[in-house]
Amino acid sequence: MNRAFDCDDAGMVWPLVDSERCLGDAGCVSVCPYDVLALQPVDAASHDDLPESTRFLLSLSGGLQAVVVAPERCRACGLCLAVCSQDAIDFHGRNESDGG
Ligand code: SF4
Repeated sequence: MNRAFDCDDAGMVWPLVDSERCLGDAGCVSVCPYDVLALQPVDAASHDDLPESTRFLLSLSGGLQAVVVAPERCRACGLCLAVCSQDAIDFHGRNESDGG
């Protein structure tokens, strides 16, 4: 298993879910030991901005995507990266600028 970081302190890095790739298979939500991620319905405005292929696949899978609900609890264990079949999860440092 790949670990993005070897981080013992919660909140040093925050996960990001790429909404253009996430198909809501929930593996990351299930595997996260710290309840950092959750499945939520894609809101209408965001849905319209997704690639057509993603919208189609989401229509078949229930229209849910993973979202980061508690980034401060992430310990960068890498479990969510390991199970994501869409390679939709990445990390950024807590102190990196917003928007990226
Ligand atoms: S890296 Fe570990 S703690 Fe952070 S969101 Fe993924 S599974 Fe949860």
